[in-house]
Amino acid sequence: MQKFNAAQWVNPNIRSLKVYTSARDEYSGAPGIMLDANESPYNNGVNRYPDPNGRMLKEWISKYRNVDPACMVLGNGSDEVLDMIFKCCQVAGGNIVVPSPSYGMYDVLAATYGMETRKVLLDDGFGLNATNLLQTVNEQTRLIIVCSPNNPTGNVLAQEEIEKLLQSFKGLVVVDEAYIDFAGAPSLVMLLGSYPNLMVVQTFSKAFGMAGLRLGVGYASAEMITFLHKVKLPYNLNILTQQNVATQLQRLDKVVANIHECLLQRDLLCNALVQLPCVEKVYPSDANFLLVQFDDAPKVLAYLLQQGIVVRDRSKEPLCNNCLRITVGTPEEDQLLLKTLKLYEENLVYRP
Ligand SMILES: *Cc1c(COP(=O)(O)O)cnc(C)c1O
Repeated sequence: MQKFNAAQWVNPNIRSLKVYTSARDEYSGAPGIMLDANESPYNNGVNRYPDPNGRMLKEWISKYRNVDPACMVLGNGSDEVLDMIFKCCQVAGGNIVVPSPSYGMYDVLAATYGMETRKVLLDDGFGLNATNLLQTVNEQTRLIIVCSPNNPTGNVLAQEEIEKLLQSFKGLVVVDEAYIDFAGAPSLVMLLGSYPNLMVVQTFSKAFGMAGLRLGVGYASAEMITFLHKVKLPYNLNILTQQNVATQLQRLDKVVANIHECLLQRDLLCNALVQLPCVEKVYPSDANFLLVQFDDAPKVLAYLLQQGIVVRDRSKEPLCNNCLRITVGTPEEDQLLLKTLKLYEENLVYRP
C-alpha cells in the first residue's frame, strides 16, 4: 500500500494555509522587554500571553511518554485536539467510520463539519473487528476513530485489530486513549514510528485528575503535527493551565497512588454490584468506570437522581440495553451508592 502522506490527506485549504506566528514564537531567549503583542505591561501574574508552544509541558510529556515533542500537539482538553483533527481532515461529502457504541463527541464533530458518521457495531463482548470496520470504509472516508479503552464499554480494543486498520486504511486512524493510564495495555504511541497514519489522543482529565485545567495531547508524525499546528489557535492553553499542570506534575507519585486506589476501588465496587438482585451484569473494565446492566435502568436512574447520585444513562446506546455508566468514586461515595441501591431494592420490595 502507498505510504500515508499527510500533505495529500489534509483538506487543501489547510495544506496551503500559512501558519499564524507571533513574535513570541520566534523569540526564545531570556524574558526581554516585550513590546510585541500589545499586552499590558503591569504585572498581575496573567498580563502576558501564554507560551503558544507549551514548551515546558511538551518537554515533560516527551519524557513521560517517550515521544519527540515535534510529534505532539497540545489542546484545551482532548476534545479540542479532536476538533483540530477534524478541521484538518474534513472535506465536503466526507465521512468518518467509528465503532459503536463509543464516545459521542465523534458524532458531534462530524456533524459540525458536515460529515456523515458511519457506525459499525462492536462484537459480542464489545470487541473490535477490523474487517467489519474496513468494509464500511469508502472513498469518502476521512477518518477512522477508535477509543481504547472504549467509552462507555470500558474495555481495551485489541491492538492486533487496530494495526489491521492502520495497515489497510489509506487515511488517518485516530486512537482515543483518554483512559489508557487505567489500563494494563500499553499506549499505542509506541507504534507512531511504524505507522505514519496513526494519531493517538490522550488527556490529563481522567487519570491525572486535571479535568478542570483542560489539557489534551495529540501524537502523530511530525508532518501531520505541522498541519495540526496550522489550525491550532495560538493561545489555546492559558497561562494558569500551563503553570498549574507543571506544578501538579511534580507530584506524580500522588497521581500514580490515586490510579492504584481507583483500580482497587473499581474491583470492590464491581464485586459488590454483582451481588445486588437489581444488577444483571457488570462488564469488565480497563478504565475508571463500570458499565452496569440493571434489570430496569430507567427506574434505578430515577431513584439515584432523586437521592442526589448522578450516573450516566447509556441505556439508549446500541448493545447497552438497560446500562448505566458509573464512575468509580472515593470509598465513601461508592459505599453510599451501594447503600442507596440496596434501599432502592427494599423500597421496591424487590423480588428477583
Ligand atoms: C473524557 C473523554 C474525552 C475528553 O477529555 P477532555 O480532555 O477533558 O476534553 C475524550 N475522549 C473520551 C473517550 C473521553 O471519555
